[in-house]
Amino acid sequence: MQHFPIFVALAGRRVVLSGGGDAALAKLRLLFKTEAHLSVFAPDPHTLIETWAAEGRLSLVRRALEPGDATCAVLFYAANEDDAEDARVSALARADGALTNTVDNLAASQFITPAIVDRDPVTVAIGTEGAAPVLARAIKADLEARLPVTLGPLARIGKAFRTMAERLPVGRARRAFWADYYFRAGPRAIADGDAAAHEALDNLLDAHLTRRDRAGHVAFVGAGPGDPELLTLKARRALDEADVVIHDRLVSPGILELARREAVLIDAGKEGFGPSMTQDRINALIVRHGRDGAQVVRLKGGDPTVFGRLDEEIDALDAACVSWHVVPGITAASASVAAIGQSLTRRGRNASVRLLTGHVMKGFADHDWRTLARPGEVAAIYMGKKAARFIQGRLIMHGAAPETPVTVVENASLPGQRILGTTLAGLPRVLQDAAPEGPALTLLGLAPRAAEAALPDIPRNPLTATQEVS
Ligand code: SAH
Repeated sequence: MQHFPIFVALAGRRVVLSGGGDAALAKLRLLFKTEAHLSVFAPDPHTLIETWAAEGRLSLVRRALEPGDATCAVLFYAANEDDAEDARVSALARADGALTNTVDNLAASQFITPAIVDRDPVTVAIGTEGAAPVLARAIKADLEARLPVTLGPLARIGKAFRTMAERLPVGRARRAFWADYYFRAGPRAIADGDAAAHEALDNLLDAHLTRRDRAGHVAFVGAGPGDPELLTLKARRALDEADVVIHDRLVSPGILELARREAVLIDAGKEGFGPSMTQDRINALIVRHGRDGAQVVRLKGGDPTVFGRLDEEIDALDAACVSWHVVPGITAASASVAAIGQSLTRRGRNASVRLLTGHVMKGFADHDWRTLARPGEVAAIYMGKKAARFIQGRLIMHGAAPETPVTVVENASLPGQRILGTTLAGLPRVLQDAAPEGPALTLLGLAPRAAEAALPDIPRNPLTATQEVS
């Protein structure tokens, strides 16, 4: 970040502008939104500036800026649209102690003015450090459409009510009150005017002062494979409302950033949770926060119901009488087949698909291997990197064709996504050469769609084929 965004107090303070043409007009229109004392220095000002001066909205000095003219100014704008003159006046203003901006000249400016979405007192400032004004404008337009114009009055009325709300205890109770006002009662009431919004606030405060503490609750939330855009709307809402987020190691930073800023983030996948204690300690942690009355999000990679040890955590909550619900997520198998353009099931190839873990396969009986080795079988193997050679050996021993397609997808949906297309025969070698460090899913029986045409004809599972046809 080369420019740090701040909000400068300008009420009653001095802002000086040098220039009298179009650039000056544009800046002045923006500065009129503030309560600053504006001084304009221009030998030949636009008639509008003269009008504004006559109306008392700014003070106008009809000459070029001289040393000492920017004394006590907080901000200074060089808007002469003349490089030499702008450089001269900026140097003078800096000597007088003001922070300077040269209009449309990033390099010569000490500060820059962002694109602004104005819902006073709520202000959104958008900056791209000069890199992409088009992008800034697009974001501004998007926010303008998204933030209702009533947000300003709502916030102003809310601000005046802050001391009243101090009757509620600091923390969760007070946050719940304000959330109710801004997202539910307030928007409904403001449609009928300011008085209705005031009344809504009074009623809401009474309701919150008399209501009992909200009970704690745990949401088991699927974080998906990593791309924040693959979160469900429900997952986003839960993250928005969470007091505590207890997450796995696999959950990407981009997703954790979406949690409410005040939420406590706890990394339950951290080294230091000893191997035998891990799950017990995590269970105890979730129970403790739920009992404390917190809205807890237990955030798990992919879908919480797939190799997520969900049941143990639910049992612990049930035993402690803490309520819970599950928000499903996109599991790694879905994201991985999407990455290679394949279906998990396909007419004439496989009517069922297995979700396995490399660990579980170590305990497979012969008949499990025989089923998996049949032509046309498709399996998504989670945590299968280490067991690759073992899996390959057993499958071939039980009759699987060495040329059976296998695809390993590393970091599915994430920027570092890699697709390693190979065969059962080539699997250990490909894994050894590529040495994937990110989470990787092994898709047995599937090749990337683009590579499929080049594969030798692999016999279809006759059973599946007839079922599909009939
Ligand atoms: N509940 C998770 C799985 C947890 S087990 C889910 O539904 O996806 C962890 C394993 O999931 C990893 O070892 C890896 O095999 C797989 N995995 C998770 N995220 C992945 C990703 N982005 N790309 C590929 N595999 C992933």
